[in-house]
Amino acid sequence: MGRKSVCIVGGGLAGLSTAYHLLIKGVKDITLIELSDRVGGLLKSEVISGYTFDVGGSHILFSKNLRTLNEMLNLLKWDVVKHYRNAKIFYKGTFVKYPFENGLGDLPPEERFECVWDLINTYVKRVKGELPQPKNFREWIVYVFGNAIASKYLIPYNEKIWKVDLSEVSLEWVEGRIPNPPLEDVVKSAVGLSVEGYTHQLNFYYPSSGGIESLAKALSKEIVNEGVEVLLNKPVKLIRKSINGKLLVEAEGVEKVCDAVVFTAPLNRSAEVLSELLNDLSNSLKALRSIPLAVVGLAVRGEALPYHWVYFPSSKELFHRVAILSNFSRSNAPEGGVALIAEVSFRSLDEMNAVSDDELIHKVYQDLEGSGLVRNPKLEFGVVRRWADAYIIYDTIRSSVLKEVVNKLRIYGVYPHGRFGSWEYLNMDAVYEKSAKLADEVVTYLTRAS
Ligand SMILES: Cc1cc2nc3c(=O)[nH]c(=O)nc-3n(C[C@H](O)[C@H](O)[C@H](O)COP(=O)(O)OP(=O)(O)OC[C@H]3O[C@@H](n4cnc5c(N)ncnc54)[C@H](O)[C@@H]3O)c2cc1C
Repeated sequence: MGRKSVCIVGGGLAGLSTAYHLLIKGVKDITLIELSDRVGGLLKSEVISGYTFDVGGSHILFSKNLRTLNEMLNLLKWDVVKHYRNAKIFYKGTFVKYPFENGLGDLPPEERFECVWDLINTYVKRVKGELPQPKNFREWIVYVFGNAIASKYLIPYNEKIWKVDLSEVSLEWVEGRIPNPPLEDVVKSAVGLSVEGYTHQLNFYYPSSGGIESLAKALSKEIVNEGVEVLLNKPVKLIRKSINGKLLVEAEGVEKVCDAVVFTAPLNRSAEVLSELLNDLSNSLKALRSIPLAVVGLAVRGEALPYHWVYFPSSKELFHRVAILSNFSRSNAPEGGVALIAEVSFRSLDEMNAVSDDELIHKVYQDLEGSGLVRNPKLEFGVVRRWADAYIIYDTIRSSVLKEVVNKLRIYGVYPHGRFGSWEYLNMDAVYEKSAKLADEVVTYLTRAS
């Protein structure tokens, strides 16, 4: 293969883990170019006055693929806490076990009956073929769960987080993500027997200290020790074809010539960066839709209920989810303190930026007090971090734009990758796995090109 070079745009998990896997496969000349002042992307944690906040939202380590999970835990040297999930849904002033269909026993008898009866009727009609096939996420929810569970929890919660009409969300989003509940489990939960759903994340891990950023730091250490050049505060502005089939990556104040590029920056904001490679097609990237997110961290004195996280489907509370990080690791807050983060999504960046940090902290704290999640609470301080892109909307435009763009970029040796580079709703395990596969592809490309 000779001495071939790879540039990686973006130092989130996708960029870091691709560098790591490329090194394992013998590629030594790697430059990782990151826009911000440190690597990690969404996996950033901040420690303020002894409170640790995962400022990119609540992150836990889990995977259906044990090998992947073990590899991530090995990187953390198993300095982790293992948990059995204790998550709730705040429904009409009470905490109902998560997922909702497995927590029906926590509802009043009338609502329990309504949910089970509706689910059974829907099930029978579905089996008899009397229900039309669902065409979008909204229809799918009703088709699988029946109207009662849909209208009490699944539709309001998902509308709150996605900020779009769920009929705009395609079925592609659902596939493999939301398990169909076994009827038997739902009936058991309604009569008060204990059952678990979403079992792939029933047991999860979390770093003992330092928050989720520990994973990014561990990867960063590995790759820097092996000689990867990491450039910080360098937003990539343009990628161009250069001579001899090479690529020129122009970032602020620096230019790099590489044989291949792994591109993990958000595609929807990369029309300019990719304009020379994509020509007219680059404008189509602007049509990709995502949801911005504000993460509001609160340091609170008091006693938190023992939950890991709680979903809030009602429009009364501003946030859709609160994670109590001091229940993930005791080292996330000082004695007598509670570290928590609330996630608040917005329709647009303008809508998010119209709300000040103080307003967000005030409203989040007020809603938190109302929920009773922390007993005898006293706010110490709050922090707000904003993310332009957090959730990718799987609408009909997405797949058509992606296919063309990805095919064209690959011809030049540019590999879109990661949650925002490949515009896929990927969790950390999927990103890590895909990085290993991508490293193989890049090595094959480099070998062919030599
Ligand atoms: C709220 C929330 C909760 C989540 N919870 C979980 C969870 O519990 N478990 C789980 O497994 N996964 C979870 N995830 C998913 C996880 O965060 C992602 O899979 C992972 O962090 C994606 O990494 P990435 O590198 O693809 O993207 P990012 O982390 O966004 O990294 C992209 C990097 O590119 C940089 N960049 C952008 N533009 C440029 C440019 N022009 N030039 C150079 N650099 C640039 C950015 O600064 C950033 O560092 C969650 C995600 C969210 C939003």
